[in-house]
Amino acid sequence: SGSSDSQDHNATGNAQLPKGVVLDKDGKPCRTCTSMSSWRALTKQAQADPSANTSSSSTTTSTNPLAAPATPSPSSIPSDCPPDVEALGRSTWTLLHSMAATYPEKADTKQQEDMGGFLKLFSRLYPCWVCADDFQGWMAHPSGNNRPKLGGRKEFGWWMCEAHNEVNRKLGKPEFDCRFWEERWRSGWKD
Ligand code: FAD
Repeated sequence: SGSSDSQDHNATGNAQLPKGVVLDKDGKPCRTCTSMSSWRALTKQAQADPSANTSSSSTTTSTNPLAAPATPSPSSIPSDCPPDVEALGRSTWTLLHSMAATYPEKADTKQQEDMGGFLKLFSRLYPCWVCADDFQGWMAHPSGNNRPKLGGRKEFGWWMCEAHNEVNRKLGKPEFDCRFWEERWRSGWKD
């Protein structure tokens, strides 16, 4: 799914919020859906005008969350702070690609069921809800082409790479060449 899906979730704009701040389903700002730079803008706004309304009865964002301003480099975010959408994403991709890298070369029925169950729950429980909704939508594409490919490590690793590339495209990031997923996440780069 593309960025338009995220906009669908956030159809009602809230002009009072800084650009890129995504609200949770309870109407409060969702930190794990928002970049650190937008979060800082929100904090500054709240300090400057404590009466500013940062909560809403409907699920909104000030604008397309994918158009968030550039995030400060990870080193400028203290390591003991709660994650923003990017830190959460990086850690999660590390987990997901590592799960693919350690998946059996040929998975039996139980292993396939376990991983399929994990991905289904993961796509419902991921703490950035806009990310989770789009990810679920992508997996459930009516063509059936995006269903997890769980027969063995190679096809699962490739599928995970394609899933990640879908998000990369949505965010305007360069696509990763999936021929190299195993070097990146399993064997290390050939010198
Ligand atoms: P990341 O995209 O986190 O990638 C980490 C590393 O993985 C890269 O440095 C690269 O070495 C490697 N890599 C990159 N692409 C691939 C690939 N295709 N296959 C294998 N390895 C690769 N953020 C949002 O703002 N909006 C969203 O809707 C959103 N949805 C997300 C959905 C999911 C399921 C997940 C896990 C994350 C989502 N994110 C979303 C976070 C986003 O994908 C990034 O993690 C975040 O923007 C940080 O990006 P990054 O440039 O540091 O690298």
